[in-house]
Amino acid sequence: MKFSNFFIPTLKESPSDVKMRSHDLMIRSGMIRQETSGIYSWMPLGFKVLKKIIDKIELLHDDNGINQILMPTIQSSDIWRISNRYDTYGKEMLRISDRNNKDLLYGPTNEEMITAIGKQYIKSYKNLPRKFYHIQTKFRDEIRPRFGVMRAREFLMKDAYSFDIDNVNGESTYCDFFKLYLKIFSQLGIPIIPVRALSGEIGGKLSHEFHLIVSSGESEIFLDNKLLNQSFGSLTLNQILNLNSYTDEYFKNIENKKNLEKFTSIELGHIFLFGTKYSSSFNFYIDSEKGKVMPYMGSYGIGISRIPAAVIEFSNDKDGIIWPKELSPFSVHLININIDDSECSEFCEKLYNEIKERNIDVIYDDRNERPGKKFSDADLIGIPLQIICGNAYSKNREISFLKRFNKEQINIGEERVMDKLLEMTGYKK
Ligand code: ATP
Ligand code: MG
Repeated sequence: MKFSNFFIPTLKESPSDVKMRSHDLMIRSGMIRQETSGIYSWMPLGFKVLKKIIDKIELLHDDNGINQILMPTIQSSDIWRISNRYDTYGKEMLRISDRNNKDLLYGPTNEEMITAIGKQYIKSYKNLPRKFYHIQTKFRDEIRPRFGVMRAREFLMKDAYSFDIDNVNGESTYCDFFKLYLKIFSQLGIPIIPVRALSGEIGGKLSHEFHLIVSSGESEIFLDNKLLNQSFGSLTLNQILNLNSYTDEYFKNIENKKNLEKFTSIELGHIFLFGTKYSSSFNFYIDSEKGKVMPYMGSYGIGISRIPAAVIEFSNDKDGIIWPKELSPFSVHLININIDDSECSEFCEKLYNEIKERNIDVIYDDRNERPGKKFSDADLIGIPLQIICGNAYSKNREISFLKRFNKEQINIGEERVMDKLLEMTGYKK
């Protein structure tokens, strides 16, 4: 993509009510635009990051036999009356009435709807287990929307739901989702910490949240700091349950508080085995070898649109964003600082085409702008590798490679540029 073609409406300053670093950087790098309180448009650069997250989540869910569906944003109040949540959900629920005065609502979550779907189609234990997910906009009328897309009113969530025959099978599905979440976050380049959460009013006994530790986070978690370097991928259910890491609410309930350290963090995911709560209120029974039983259900959420903000909060410096390669909107940022020099421009154009031919996602700054502006924009939008063609090319046929995270810069002769690029972006096998 050529910078001149790609719409990146960078700003010099954010509005004065912007209080969090990630919010400031997302606004200034032209990733998002506020439409009204807690409601945002995603501009091309921001949407590209969002799509990367969506693609990864879809790939790994599909791989695990979880069926993608798309439920609507608008729901009927009827199903929420069945679960009794229409009255208890509170003011976070946006209630709407249509022209026939029918009570509708903008879905804050989908347990009721998936239970209604399950009840209609799943009649026998032979149909279980079943797992579904969708990626859909949610609305929660948060009392204090803030920090941009971090705590928005309208936001994008992946929510999955499972149906099992009994508790034992439900726990095994829960364990599979736990591991799937670790894999997803690891492949997104996010050092996630799973923490035990209270199951709260919903009942059932299993719930975990997935947190990213950052000093400006709104959540508090407590953990044995040895866990910071642990990989959790091969844990059994028992080991998962015995992990020494807890949400703030859970921490208040445990007795042995020794060796636990407090961290502030951002919640990016939440999984829940709530058992028969919704199947019982919906009178949802299936035939089994033991007669009619209520399916055992779970729900599993990832805050997709919160992830870019959390990652920026975790990884930035005074000049801007520093994307991990897994989430970066582009892999390489090619910068031509001598566009008036025909040799420089020819070289860049040729290199740009070669990079594209190798299916490496590159943005080429071909704009007629001052070098200072190009450098500051490149640092602001934070692509991990900058390749700069300027005076060193005119003099010695050399190109500069600059790593965004530590600003380490080396010069490479033009004939070695592609090899070095493949090596540094990890595309070389
Ligand atoms: P929080 O504790 O941050 O309010 P929650 O517990 O209400 O979140 P869940 O119902 O567990 O959220 O939703 C699943 C995920 O959706 C959360 O882990 C979070 O990443 C994301 N999320 C929830 N509320 C918001 C919001 N207002 N804006 C952006 N993302 C959100
Ligand atoms: Mg939660």
